[in-house]
Amino acid sequence: MVSSKMDAVLEFLPTLKKLYSDSFIALFLFGGIFVILGGRQALKRPSEGTMNEAAHNLLLVLSNSALVVLLFGNLSFYSNFLFEYLSLPRVTKDFWSNVPFFYGIIIALIALDFQNYWAHRILHTKYFWGVHALHHSDKHITWSTSYRIHVLELVIMSVVYVTLIGWLSLPATVVAPVAFIRLWHSKLIHCQFDWTFGRFRRILASPNYHKWHHSSKPEAFGKNLCDMFPIWDIMFGTHYDPGLCGTDTGVDGFKDGFLEGQIYPFKYAYIATKKRFKSTPVTPPRTP
Ligand SMILES: [Zn+2]
Ligand SMILES: [Zn+2]
Repeated sequence: MVSSKMDAVLEFLPTLKKLYSDSFIALFLFGGIFVILGGRQALKRPSEGTMNEAAHNLLLVLSNSALVVLLFGNLSFYSNFLFEYLSLPRVTKDFWSNVPFFYGIIIALIALDFQNYWAHRILHTKYFWGVHALHHSDKHITWSTSYRIHVLELVIMSVVYVTLIGWLSLPATVVAPVAFIRLWHSKLIHCQFDWTFGRFRRILASPNYHKWHHSSKPEAFGKNLCDMFPIWDIMFGTHYDPGLCGTDTGVDGFKDGFLEGQIYPFKYAYIATKKRFKSTPVTPPRTP
């Protein structure tokens, strides 16, 4: 009874779990596409630093994928609690039966990206920067940087996504392709290609646009927070796109290493609490 009710609330979860557990296949598939699309830029010999950071990122694929598989099973209880047990108002499933598939995908992409923009903006405040700094710590951005997510950030973002998906009652047929598009676009924007997307640069985020987000140039701190659609940055004052980004990336004072990365938010919280968030804790937060 309980499980059939749960299935009705978040029927997409098995699909999503499979999608994430297929990360390894995606990893190798993307490697191939990456070389074909990137040509010379993709085949450029990586430096030792790049290899070390990529190895760290691939280790995170292992730990984070395992967590996501565990986490999503439990998040169905959370969503069930909100929308079935507490009966919070939400969009009805009937709404989606009248929406053509293509429009459903567009609506879901816009809604999730809008939500992601604000969640990402919050991660850049001094209260949450400790959780997000790991993602910015790569000095050599490669597509593997898209996996450089702290376990706490993964939990926060998963709860945020599941809440919206549950509230919208998004059907599995929409969630699965949308998750797939977002997953692959995220890898694309972290590629070391200097693509700007030319005249479409204000419509869809490019690798160059997102590289500015990772730039260590202070003018770019807290800018280009969108995942997919720069319209949010343009609307909410965080747009920064002065041309090709040739600046360094990374976070000053951040030591690379799996354990260092995992401990960092706790170190940040400890020092920040001692200083009552009045001054720079470990590394300065990149607030918008
Ligand atoms: Zn960020
Ligand atoms: Zn990034």
